[in-house]
Amino acid sequence: MEEKIRLCFICGGIIPTTRNGNSKFCSSDCYNQNKAKLAKIAGQQNAMERVLLYNEEILAELYQSYGSIYYFSAKLLIEKDFNWAIYSGEVTVNGLIAKKLITHGYTLFTNQNVQLWKF
Ligand SMILES: [Zn+2]
Repeated sequence: MEEKIRLCFICGGIIPTTRNGNSKFCSSDCYNQNKAKLAKIAGQQNAMERVLLYNEEILAELYQSYGSIYYFSAKLLIEKDFNWAIYSGEVTVNGLIAKKLITHGYTLFTNQNVQLWKF
């Protein structure tokens, strides 16, 4: 049977035949490097989820005062350290593009006014 040459996912080096047939890494060094990389990605995802939750809490709190009826200045969100870059998706509500957090979302208008939504 012909042995297929397998390359390491981390360094691109040839995986020695002495390593487990399922191994994607040439050495324990590369294996550990990959593990650290995955842990870092998981950490970044956790950080993003925390920000998403934080954003959601801000919107939920403001929703109690403004609902979907009243507009308010984006300054209110800025003062609370709202992170504009983090949201879970975009949806269309009443013909408007809204950024969705979890159960709340918002539309930011060009005049810097914000309208909230609850899903
Ligand atoms: Zn390697």
